[in-house]
Amino acid sequence: MSTDKTNPPGANDSQTLRQFDQQHVWHHLTQHKALEQNPALMIRSGNGMMVTDTDGNQYLDATSGGVWTVNLGYGRQQIVDAIAKQLSDLPYFAGALGNEPAAKFAKVLADLLPNLSRIYYASSGSEANEKAYKIVRQLSQSSSRQGKRKIVYRDRDYHGTTIAALSSSGHNERKAQYGPFLDDFVEIPHCCCYRCPFNKTYPSCNIECAQAFESEILKQGPDTVGSVVLESITAGGGVIVPVPEYLPMIADICKQYGVLLHIDEVVTGMGRTGTWFGFEHFNVFPDMITLAKGLAGGYAAISVLATTETIFEAFKTDTNDPLNYFRDISTFGGCTAGPAAALANIDIIQTENLLNNAKIMGDYFIQQLRGLAEKHPCIGDIRGKGLFIGIELVDDRKTKHPVDEARMTRVFLHCLQHGVMIGRSNRSVAGLNNVLLLSPALICDKAKADDIITAIDAALTATFKQTV
Ligand code: PLP
Repeated sequence: MSTDKTNPPGANDSQTLRQFDQQHVWHHLTQHKALEQNPALMIRSGNGMMVTDTDGNQYLDATSGGVWTVNLGYGRQQIVDAIAKQLSDLPYFAGALGNEPAAKFAKVLADLLPNLSRIYYASSGSEANEKAYKIVRQLSQSSSRQGKRKIVYRDRDYHGTTIAALSSSGHNERKAQYGPFLDDFVEIPHCCCYRCPFNKTYPSCNIECAQAFESEILKQGPDTVGSVVLESITAGGGVIVPVPEYLPMIADICKQYGVLLHIDEVVTGMGRTGTWFGFEHFNVFPDMITLAKGLAGGYAAISVLATTETIFEAFKTDTNDPLNYFRDISTFGGCTAGPAAALANIDIIQTENLLNNAKIMGDYFIQQLRGLAEKHPCIGDIRGKGLFIGIELVDDRKTKHPVDEARMTRVFLHCLQHGVMIGRSNRSVAGLNNVLLLSPALICDKAKADDIITAIDAALTATFKQTV
């Protein structure tokens, strides 16, 4: 008797599915012992900001798919149709040959960017960052940038999961036991005013966190530093929005010492913060940016590295040198579903005026959360731009001692049990995984925002049993 291998027996029944999951799936970022008692929810479908699990329970997703990705919500037929048409025309072509949606999307994206006209395709954020690091290293072999191969990064930023991306990341828990890391990655402190690494207060601090970048360049030797990589607004490290002077100062220092400014927009790109790109809030012009999550909103796997024409030109100056080109490929950078979906994604953001909605709704969230802070002394800080918001929880507002793991989990689970999915920060420096993360889809309206705020209010009341 033949069995249908694509649909094993019982595969539509929730309990059996969970069994398959428990027996065979190795989940990301998960201690599986915990799943033995509490099997993972299995999400079956989504519509707008709502998702439904295999038992039929509905959840309001305030995380955009868990990690800031499904920015336009679920069930977007326009994106599905664009992908389906593209796949039936041509699913894939890579290497030196071009394909239609890749050319179209490169043009559309380049037109949104101030000075970054070259688009390189890959399939994940980590991979796009790796491309940027390889460019810095290869350029450091050229006569004009000889020896400038070091890459500076910050201790609360995250740039991905591969060894080079982790070498440039500051999240201790993600890094522990995977070393030794690569040489020539240099760490500097973050720019979080709430926990100033220099114990100063803005604005009398003279933005010492930016000055620390210059000090590090001088310490390393300006002739050795090739680039700095940073998130325009730090995501998993706890939603850290720099003060207005910070990024312009970093950009000036880059210019002064010939250091390339690489801004990681993997999370903040494509409207998340109320502008197309996070760096636009700060009036700076990066030499390279990397984009991934919101590019196709989770409907296809695509990432890109966008660079200036100057960087691109440096890779074709000497045609007699067989090594003078970017000797890099990404197999799945040739999937056409990514750029086809990304084109539809941009069209929807423009047609539905979602940048503006992200701005308006982001302000609404911050205002409502400030109201909650009057009632809940555990709210130490509220930070964000657009629909990219962090709520830092502390034991005591004076000492700012972070709330422990167990209570963070309780808040998270209380929300989930009441039908609302929220996120939480990664452990970066000093165990700071005490930030609740809100990143609803850019379509979020006031009614949904109120539901999210109500769930957080109830979770904080239940967990801390202390209001003022
Ligand atoms: N950069 C940032 C800022 C991220 O938050 C992430 C992932 O969360 C990455 C890069 C890595 O992206 P990916 O998981 O697609 O490799």
